[in-house]
Amino acid sequence: MHLSATSLDISHETAVSRGRRWILGALALAILAGIALCATTKTQAQTPAPGVKLYIFDLGQLKSANPQPLLDRGVTVTDMSVVAYLIVHPRGTLLWDSGTIPDELVKPEGTTIVRATVKKTIVGQLAEIGYKPADVTYLALSHYHYDHSANANTFAGSTWLVQRPERAAMFPETPPANPIDPNVAAKFSALKNSKTVILDGDHDVFGDGSVVIISTPGHTPGHQSLFVRLANFGPLVLSGDLYHYPSERTLKDFLPFGGRGNDAQEAASKAKVEALLKEKGATLWIQHDIVADATLKKSPSHYD
Ligand SMILES: [Zn+2]
Repeated sequence: MHLSATSLDISHETAVSRGRRWILGALALAILAGIALCATTKTQAQTPAPGVKLYIFDLGQLKSANPQPLLDRGVTVTDMSVVAYLIVHPRGTLLWDSGTIPDELVKPEGTTIVRATVKKTIVGQLAEIGYKPADVTYLALSHYHYDHSANANTFAGSTWLVQRPERAAMFPETPPANPIDPNVAAKFSALKNSKTVILDGDHDVFGDGSVVIISTPGHTPGHQSLFVRLANFGPLVLSGDLYHYPSERTLKDFLPFGGRGNDAQEAASKAKVEALLKEKGATLWIQHDIVADATLKKSPSHYD
């Protein structure tokens, strides 16, 4: 009895000490894991994502349909640049916008349709840096207008990132009062069946804060802009058509394309982006600003 009691006591003590050792071990592991997590979080917050590259594709230019009101407000160059951007991230690629004339209509000597003139194809510029449409992980359009969506169908195999009200405007369930021009709609029609991520606001594309879609409705119901954090260049925002000319940022009553979307919503989106630019110390690239765009490196050069 005594022996067995002693042996019971011993085995009990052993179990207790084993339990204590286990708890201490688990605590130590938890502390180490906590330190590792803090270190990771700190690293993510302070270090720019490695290897993010941004290529600018030259997709021609647009003549202004009605330059006089622009000239009256001090815009000296009323032509607009048309560009698309390829963002290359270690976790995939994002194509932002897709031009104004479909590639199949672009001749080597250049093609002019109405007010647009294009000399280079988007697929040709992708190929020049070693990519084909199937290599594009994500497609995002700043908005559906014809000068941003002309080659959308080429990227229907990518995952489409679109704001909910934009998709609803592009593919309405009942005929709207002001339907989109069927010629424009035909150029993005294939996106209807694309693998789609429907967005309800801002969206961190690769999950590390380096490439973030910023919801900026107004110009269209689900217009969006793009924040990109580049290690060397620094933080950057691609405008979409939030602005067309730099003077729109200073002349608050200057809305050259006002009245077509939701002006109050657009004003709120501008305030949101201006606050973001200030907070991040980011540069704004106005996509249609032909004067500023002429100073930027085009693909196959890139920003990183
Ligand atoms: Zn535009």
